[in-house]
Amino acid sequence: TLVETATYTDRHGTRHPLPDAAAEAQVRADDRSHVFHSWSAQALIDPLPVAAGEGSTFWDYQGNSFLDFSSQLVNLNLGHQHPDLVAAIQQQAGRLATIQPSMASDVRGELARRIAEVAPGDLDKVFFTNGGADANEYAVRMARAVTGRRKVLSMYRSYHGGTATAISLTGDPRRWANEPSDGSVAHFLGPYPYRSSFHSDSPEQETERALAHLEQVITLEGANTVAAIILETVVGTNGVLVPPPGYLQGVRALADKYGIVYIADEVMVGFGRVGEWFAVNHFGVVPDLITFAKGVNSGYVPLGGVVISQRIASHFDTVAFMGGLTYSGHPLACAAGVATFEVFERDGILERVRDLGERVVEPRLREIAATHPSVGDVRGLGLFWAIELVRDRETREPLVPFNASGADAAPMAAVAAACKQAGLWPFVHFNRMHVAPPLVITEQELVRGLDIIDEALTVADGFAA
Ligand code: PLP
Repeated sequence: TLVETATYTDRHGTRHPLPDAAAEAQVRADDRSHVFHSWSAQALIDPLPVAAGEGSTFWDYQGNSFLDFSSQLVNLNLGHQHPDLVAAIQQQAGRLATIQPSMASDVRGELARRIAEVAPGDLDKVFFTNGGADANEYAVRMARAVTGRRKVLSMYRSYHGGTATAISLTGDPRRWANEPSDGSVAHFLGPYPYRSSFHSDSPEQETERALAHLEQVITLEGANTVAAIILETVVGTNGVLVPPPGYLQGVRALADKYGIVYIADEVMVGFGRVGEWFAVNHFGVVPDLITFAKGVNSGYVPLGGVVISQRIASHFDTVAFMGGLTYSGHPLACAAGVATFEVFERDGILERVRDLGERVVEPRLREIAATHPSVGDVRGLGLFWAIELVRDRETREPLVPFNASGADAAPMAAVAAACKQAGLWPFVHFNRMHVAPPLVITEQELVRGLDIIDEALTVADGFAA
């Protein structure tokens, strides 16, 4: 039932009624009784019922609006209900809603071609999956098949997905409860200039020392046992860690030296987040495999995949690739992907990400860092930034401890609550707040969101020295 008790107003100024309180109660009841949620103690959560979304905003059933500074899970690059994506999905559904992967499909082929056109170097074939974790699973499988080796190296402070090998590759605490899983994974430390594991004084030194460490890990693990090195081009959930100059080139060189496959996980940063189709394009490196998901179609229909170099693809010219998924290259997902390319090109999305990042976000965050004692570091690229909060700027003690939960995490929960109260949906992880709005956010919305963060950080200042 739709009643005029709560409404939302779309970008054309049209008011829409929202479902009433009884509808909201039903959503809550069904959710609490029957939906089993990700990464949560089921009895301790209270998921917000969301009634509608448009652009960078979504509404709850009470008509409260939230400016989405997390792009959901950093996937909603073109915002909610983008008319071109919605129309593409509707049209495709009217013509051919599904087709099995061993048949050829026009939208699957067109999307693969368009991805190959923007991918670096000789990466020109695409294997489609349902999301990011399975993209990483398949990339690893390809690397193992091609090298005849088994081991995979991945970074501490990384996230690669929740399935068997992907959660083993993950270098954050979410893997612990799932261990042992894939025993052929070894972790290494990546560059993190603000909290250098290598006691470096400069980004250049961080690069040099992090690469020396990686080479040592390769050697100690046995270079001829290592099939692949996988790393997020810009580490996402674990801190928006932009690699210092030369680091990725160094990884490429080590991979070449030891015959190891370099997999770039661009599930979070691919498709415009940092102002390039693929983030590796920003750094001028060419991996052997790139995994993607999220931004390829803003998550309107689940889709991910692996972009494959000619060298790796040709290994399977006469040897069967043993892997597949019923929904690989699903037409509805691919139609939304093709529409994504059209919108990016027509609306100059990559250019606007670079412009808004440099002209609006970076200067404002530097200003915020200068005025709040709780801000230890701000860093990022394009429309992907982290604000790292500390108790003490001198010692850099994090505002909440690593892996904090419950009472330990209270200061960050208080900052998040202040944001929500002011109408901003933040992305908060441990002692960091990330700024990752939809790439279509208006400048006015961006400025308003950063103002809300500025204000909410006074709560964090209360916990800082
Ligand atoms: N890789 C990275 C870098 C991610 O950020 C994520 C998800 O957040 C994944 C992989 C897993 O993707 P999915 O949740 O689609 O399986």
